[in-house]
Amino acid sequence: MSELQIGATVHLTNGATATVKKLLGEGGQGYVYLASVNGKDMALKWYKNPPSSSPEKFYKNLRQNAESGAPAPMFIWPEYVTQHEQGSFGYVMKLRPEGYYEFGQFLINKQRFASLHAIFTSAIEICEAFKALHAKGLSYQDLNDGNFFIDPKTGHVMICDNDNAFPNGEKSGILGKARYMAPEVVTGQRMPDAYTDKFSLAVILFYIIYMNHPFEGMKVLAHPCMTEELDRKCYGSEILFIAHPTDKSNAPIKGLHNNVIKRWPLFPKLLRDSFTREFTAPILNSPNKRLTEMQWLDILTSVRDELIRCPFCGEETFASLQKCLDCGKSIVVSNVLEIEKRRLPLTDGNTLFIDRDDTPDMRIVHTAQDPSKLVIQNLMQNDIEVQTTTGQVRIVKPNEYLPVKVGLQLKLKIRGYQYIAKIQ
Ligand SMILES: [Zn+2]
Repeated sequence: MSELQIGATVHLTNGATATVKKLLGEGGQGYVYLASVNGKDMALKWYKNPPSSSPEKFYKNLRQNAESGAPAPMFIWPEYVTQHEQGSFGYVMKLRPEGYYEFGQFLINKQRFASLHAIFTSAIEICEAFKALHAKGLSYQDLNDGNFFIDPKTGHVMICDNDNAFPNGEKSGILGKARYMAPEVVTGQRMPDAYTDKFSLAVILFYIIYMNHPFEGMKVLAHPCMTEELDRKCYGSEILFIAHPTDKSNAPIKGLHNNVIKRWPLFPKLLRDSFTREFTAPILNSPNKRLTEMQWLDILTSVRDELIRCPFCGEETFASLQKCLDCGKSIVVSNVLEIEKRRLPLTDGNTLFIDRDDTPDMRIVHTAQDPSKLVIQNLMQNDIEVQTTTGQVRIVKPNEYLPVKVGLQLKLKIRGYQYIAKIQ
C-alpha cells in the first residue's frame, strides 16, 4: 500500500481515469489528491491501508453508494470508485468549495460564525442532511467534528468522509470517535446504526450551538491524559451531561468553558429542555426514543424564528429573552406572524425565513413618515394574498409592502408549498 506518484493514473470503474496532480492532505486512513478526471479537477481519496476489517465489503458498499448518488446536496459524496490497483483503491469526489472551514477550526477559535443566524443555519442543514441520509436507509456511523466544513459567513455546510455510510444495520467495521459515539457503542453494547447516529448528531448540534462539548466538564478534565479505559468511563458507563440539572460533578469550568456557561442560560428554553432530555436518563440510555432529525428541525427552526435584531444596537438576540444579548436593553415584541405553531416576531429590521432555507422571504421595516409604523416587504418570487378582517383581498407583489396590522391573513407560496399566516 503506497502513496501515488504525481502524474500517476488510476482507472475508475466507469472507464474514465483519474490523473494525480497534487497531494492535498493525508489522514490516518489515506491520502487525498487533486486529480484530473475527464479534464475536470476533482479530489481523489486513496486508502493507505485496508479501510476496514473486510475491505471487499467496504469496496462493494462504496461502489453502491457512488451509483445511488448523494442523499442531499450538502454531501461531498463518492462519485466514482477506482479499480483495485497498485495494491489499494480509492474514489473521486467533488473538491471542497472555497470559503468552507473544518468545524474543528471553529472549536479552537480560528474561525468564528458571523452571526447566530449562521449558527442555526448550520445546525438546520446538518439535520436536513442526516434526515435525507437516514431516509435512504443509510447510517453514517462516524459522525465527528472532522466531517463538517462550514462557511462561517452563512453557516452553509458541506459533509465529507462519507465512505463509512452503510445500509442501516450493516457494520462498516468503524466505531467512530469516542467523543461523538453513543454511550452504548463506547461500552460495546451496540454497533453504530441510525439510532446511535442520532446521539452523535445531538452532540454535534450542542457543540455548534454552545461551542463546548456536552460531556466534557470538570470530571472529564480531571484526567490529564485519556486512556481507552477512561474513555469508556467518561463517554460510556459514567457519561454525564455538563448541564445535568441535579448532578453538578461534571459542570463546565469557568475560564475553559465560557461559551456554554454564557450561552446555556440565555439561549431559548426549548434548546435547554431538548438537550437535557437527550443527554440525561432515561432517554440517554434509550436509543430508539432519541429525537428524530424531523423533531430537531422543528426545534431549530422555531429557535431561529426567535432571532431578532436589537433596535438599539443592531446586534442579534432572541425575542423570548425580551432583552438584547449584547447591550442588555429591554425589547418589546408587539406583533408576531403566526404560521401553524410558529410565531415569527415582527420587529423593525427583522428578516423572516418561512421555509427552512437561508433565503429571506420577508423583511420588516418602518415607514419613512412614521418610525413607529411597521410594514412587511415581500421578498419572495410569488405574490402574497392578503385578506383583511372584513374579508377584502389584496395582492402584494414581490418587493411590495403590507402593513403590520393585527388580524391580516396572509397566503404565501414558497417552492410549491402554501403557508397560511396571520398577524397577531
Ligand atoms: Zn442591543
